[in-house]
Amino acid sequence: MYEFKVSTGSRSELLDITAEVQKAVGSSGVEEGTCLVFVPHTTAAVTINEGADPAVRRDIESELDKIIPWNDGYAHAEGNSAAHIKTSLVGSSEIVLIAGGRLVLGTWQSIYFCEFDGPRNRKVYVKVTAD
Ligand code: ZN
Repeated sequence: MYEFKVSTGSRSELLDITAEVQKAVGSSGVEEGTCLVFVPHTTAAVTINEGADPAVRRDIESELDKIIPWNDGYAHAEGNSAAHIKTSLVGSSEIVLIAGGRLVLGTWQSIYFCEFDGPRNRKVYVKVTAD
């Protein structure tokens, strides 16, 4: 298993981690297989979406804020229920195929670490499995 750290700079943020995940795949030496990306946090997630236009990331963040406002009479005393709910909606893992030692992503796809209760220092786990 591979691990890398992510430092986030604001409460809500989508960070492109495609290069770090590809680095983990490269160091595994696996040419054909699968790559599991797992975020071990309850207020951060991972997703795959467009990497070309940064406006897409911003739209995802702002629409999630509208659907799940930060203050909405939540029961959880820590005060970050919105971050927990977003994390469950977006999810804690992604699986990407590997071919020729490279992640198989669509032309416009990038892998995003999703911070929902930053700024914090976070971890990402990557498990690469050969066919
Ligand atoms: Zn909490």
